[in-house]
Amino acid sequence: MRPMDVAARIPRLRQAFAGAECDALLVTRMVNIRYLTGFTGSAALVLVRPDDVVFVTDGRYRDQSASELAGAGVEARIRVGLTAGAQKESLQEEAAGLGRLGLEAAAVSWAQQRRYDTDWFPDAELVATESLVEELRKVKDAGEVERMAAAATIADEALARVLHRLAAAPTEEEFALELDFEMRRGGATAPSFETIVASGPNGAQPHHRPSNRRIGAGELVVVDFGAIVEGYCSDMTRTFCVGQPASATARRMVDVVAESQRAGVDAVRAGVEGKAVDEACRAIIAEAGWAEAFLHSTGHGVGLEIHEDPRVSSVSTDTLVAGHVVTVEPGVYLPEHGGVRIEDTMVVTDEGCLVFTNAPKELVVV
Ligand code: ZN
Ligand code: ZN
Repeated sequence: MRPMDVAARIPRLRQAFAGAECDALLVTRMVNIRYLTGFTGSAALVLVRPDDVVFVTDGRYRDQSASELAGAGVEARIRVGLTAGAQKESLQEEAAGLGRLGLEAAAVSWAQQRRYDTDWFPDAELVATESLVEELRKVKDAGEVERMAAAATIADEALARVLHRLAAAPTEEEFALELDFEMRRGGATAPSFETIVASGPNGAQPHHRPSNRRIGAGELVVVDFGAIVEGYCSDMTRTFCVGQPASATARRMVDVVAESQRAGVDAVRAGVEGKAVDEACRAIIAEAGWAEAFLHSTGHGVGLEIHEDPRVSSVSTDTLVAGHVVTVEPGVYLPEHGGVRIEDTMVVTDEGCLVFTNAPKELVVV
């Protein structure tokens, strides 16, 4: 796979400092640290100073941090502190005289903020910043897109291998486990979230957790799942039926949601508001009389996190640009008939979008 241009990210982050009224930024969200440095461990603090970068971690990550940062081409001074106190002292030295020190407001707890203010950096002016790294993360480079497409292919192929098993009346848990296993076998480091398998009446809950319920003939089955490749997530949903659907309404639900989803995908293009994509999906479901049964927003950004910016919803303020990766996933949920959701993940282009998922979207009768 093509390398990602990790080293270019911190210089771009610095360009946002003036607007955020800070001179340096203490990055504490691990997913943002991974994005900026390539470090995949579970504990680190990164101080982005005007002219250099200080990476503080503990003894467990002495060697891993050095090799991952070097592998990503990121230049940083790595300071290993064997205790929390030693790490604090390293940062105090490095932050001395910096002036306005930005914190990631959404990721710092009240207790941490008080500690930073009174104990760690009493001489600095602490500044609450919002989404400085998250803003950069919205637009994916070619290497990131390639990883997400690879994750989607793994999920697609895993589904193709296990789908026939639905006819053997597995429980929801059993089917979810088989799907997860096939994704791991196909090269995923993990599922990108807890796989959803929701059959019959359970399908009316959009985020049902797989249970020991057996999947029966004539029932709709919503399967929502994804794979992780090198930290990047995929996300897809398909709705199946074992045999023919038990009711005409169930079949109509699938047809309406498929049409709604197609309209959403067709609306995705650089320059279009996230809100407009949501409207395109919602209009078709409303026309069918099920506006109140579409229980969630149309979609979300995907990347290192399964849910990230930009948002594709009625209250979204995002405008899509080339390189955004978003889902389109309308659904209809009726307690008497179950649920239908169809979801693809795609990368936005100037002309439209490239959909990562290939599995058929019309009703698949197993
Ligand atoms: Zn999903
Ligand atoms: Zn999703």
